[in-house]
Amino acid sequence: MSSISWKRIVIKVGSALIAPKQNGCSSHYLLGIAQFIVRCKAMGIEVVLVSSGSVAAGSHLFNEQEAGYKPSIAVKKAMAAAGQMEMMATWDRLFDFPTAQILVTHGDLRDRERYVSIKDTIFSLLENGILPILNENDTVTTDKLKVGDNDNLAAMIAAAADADTLIICSDVDGLYDSNPHVNPDAQLLSDVPQINEAIFAMAGDATSKVGTGGMNTKIQAAKKAVAHGIDTYIVNGFTAQTFNTLLAGKNPGTHFSPDKKPMTEHLHWMTHTSTAQGELVVENDFDTELKGNSEDFTSNEIIAVNGDFAVGDIILVRKNDGTRLAKAKSNYSSCLLSFIADHDDQDFGSKYQETTGPIISDANIALLDDN
Ligand code: GLU
Repeated sequence: MSSISWKRIVIKVGSALIAPKQNGCSSHYLLGIAQFIVRCKAMGIEVVLVSSGSVAAGSHLFNEQEAGYKPSIAVKKAMAAAGQMEMMATWDRLFDFPTAQILVTHGDLRDRERYVSIKDTIFSLLENGILPILNENDTVTTDKLKVGDNDNLAAMIAAAADADTLIICSDVDGLYDSNPHVNPDAQLLSDVPQINEAIFAMAGDATSKVGTGGMNTKIQAAKKAVAHGIDTYIVNGFTAQTFNTLLAGKNPGTHFSPDKKPMTEHLHWMTHTSTAQGELVVENDFDTELKGNSEDFTSNEIIAVNGDFAVGDIILVRKNDGTRLAKAKSNYSSCLLSFIADHDDQDFGSKYQETTGPIISDANIALLDDN
């Protein structure tokens, strides 16, 4: 890129930037980021901020802070509740326009109605010049309901906000071909045209000391974002120069190219944000091209119906050997599908579908490329 053509961006800031010493919030690194946001807004670019740091910001308020102490999950949630206030207050002080807090869980994002409601709120805030600041609602999440890291959350929000650019701040300059913390010869990759297994292998499983994400979750996030046609950058959030370079239209870190044929918003949500409530298992030699022909899919192809799902829920279609074929909205409940799939009369299902309609509609299927 040579000059900025962004219309709407999402920037993700991690705990290590908010509370570098885990002793409450510090504006040390946030000043440069806030200035970047102010300058973007002055150029007419809409900005959404995804900020981690509630646990790191709140931990110093708890008595149990002794060396080696590991807080229980309940105490961490309490730290998040207290730290979120401190974190929002710190951000708010840095801007002379209003900010707004949105706390979400994966339970909210994977429910289509709640997802649309979150989108609408983000758009209303942006239209009114208010900076939306999102974080995971750590206090109410259980393992089943959480995204777990704000890198993936930021990618889901970038898709929901229909952003053209996602900037993920890291503690290193971008993606290296090996871990730069241990290998001084590690080379920075400036451009990643396609995210494949080799790219994930480079990310390793390194995690930051503060916060939950590492390079791996950043690559997962980049994969989600580029699938929606979003230009994605991993940059060093600790140096102010990063943001000057970005504003000069240059790449200070690693740039991930957006997919040439991005998924529509609805299919992207189905693939990358929703969670399948159950699954339809088909024979290993099932080779019908589901795309465009998914309405021909009949109960005769189903060898097992797993899980408990209702009409309208998202399900996974997979082969018996585990290969994932597609995620789709089911027009039938698991109960009804089990009944027709198990019926002695082989034609029963097809006849039933002739009057009731297809199990999966062509408009509501997302093929998965991980097979
Ligand atoms: N939501 C967590 C927090 O605010 C951070 C998650 C992450 O670090 O990715 O502390």
